[in-house]
Amino acid sequence: MQFKDIISQQKLIARLIEAAGQGRIAHAQLFFGPEGSQKLPVALAYAQFINCKNKILSSDGKPIDSCGKCSSCIKFSRLEHPDLHFFFPNNDNATIEKSRSLDYLPLWRKIFAEYRGEFSYQTWVNAMEIGVNRQAIINKADCDTLLGALNLRRFEADYRIVIIWMAEKISDTISATLLKTLEEPEDGTVFILITEDPDNIIATIRSRTQLVRFFKLSESEVEQELVSQFGISPNIARIAAQKSNGNIIEGLKKAQNNEQDNEFHKEFVSWMRYCYAVDVPSILNFSEKMKSLSREKIKYFLSSSLEEFRRCLLIRYSAEKHIKVTDEQKVFSTKFSSFVHKNNIDKFYSIINQTIYNTDRNGNIPLLLTDASLRFCKIFEAEKKRNN
Ligand SMILES: [Zn+2]
Repeated sequence: MQFKDIISQQKLIARLIEAAGQGRIAHAQLFFGPEGSQKLPVALAYAQFINCKNKILSSDGKPIDSCGKCSSCIKFSRLEHPDLHFFFPNNDNATIEKSRSLDYLPLWRKIFAEYRGEFSYQTWVNAMEIGVNRQAIINKADCDTLLGALNLRRFEADYRIVIIWMAEKISDTISATLLKTLEEPEDGTVFILITEDPDNIIATIRSRTQLVRFFKLSESEVEQELVSQFGISPNIARIAAQKSNGNIIEGLKKAQNNEQDNEFHKEFVSWMRYCYAVDVPSILNFSEKMKSLSREKIKYFLSSSLEEFRRCLLIRYSAEKHIKVTDEQKVFSTKFSSFVHKNNIDKFYSIINQTIYNTDRNGNIPLLLTDASLRFCKIFEAEKKRNN
């Protein structure tokens, strides 16, 4: 990861670059700030930067980013550098004292790549599949691994990097040992502790670190990160960012739901077209195709169909300011609203609600959807007559 891959936190990144340029690289740093504020991505970009063999220079000759191409950069970007050590909460579900971050490294790399370094503790715990009620912590076996690594000579890097993610999950039993290693720093070793909860880190450890505070992102920063880092379409990224509270993880969740909504919106549009045209072969096709989704997804689709009808009603009765959807969805709802009014809305709702009810009770999906479709056809037929 290079600094250029990160759009937000520019001031903080500039300070890190400047300090490094002046040779001020604190041997223990505490990156703290709310969830989804880019702490881990910045830590990685920083580690890669200070170890890069061929740093990119600004026009006045100051190093500003890692090259992304030298052998050190490539190993860092794959999280495979032998002088890069990760510790994070873990639990192998057998004996927690023996559970080690090391054993989860392949999974850690996979999740890191999937989320570009920005994922929640819960996402990580889910990925480890340790069960809902189990805690993951950084425990004795990790401490032993760390001490073992510190005893070895550095392989090739200028700075050995130790990243402790979710440092508030460091077990009490190892904090004394850890404190000692922070007090007597190994030359050339940089500890980066990352936390959302600095108050839950033992004060003696906290006081040994240089504090680096991350603020939550602005709406527009979340929007830009979603577009450029996660390939979310600009239209959806804008709405998701508004609902993200400056948290990329939230923004991404909202955007992904929204992508799903967008897909279901398209399904809904087709469905209504078939019903309006009483196109029975297409209706049968559609009903059959939906069978491939899980019942939960089908229920979600039907619930979002309820929303579609409600939206039409709001538009019809000029309350569209309450609607937060993409422009494309708004255009459809506006057109479709000529068929949805206070005299038939209950029929639409009742058809959908019954279908949800029967989906829940293991009804046959193609039959249920075909049945609902034919009832929609009837309503539209009545509307056509009324409009003529
Ligand atoms: Zn490099």
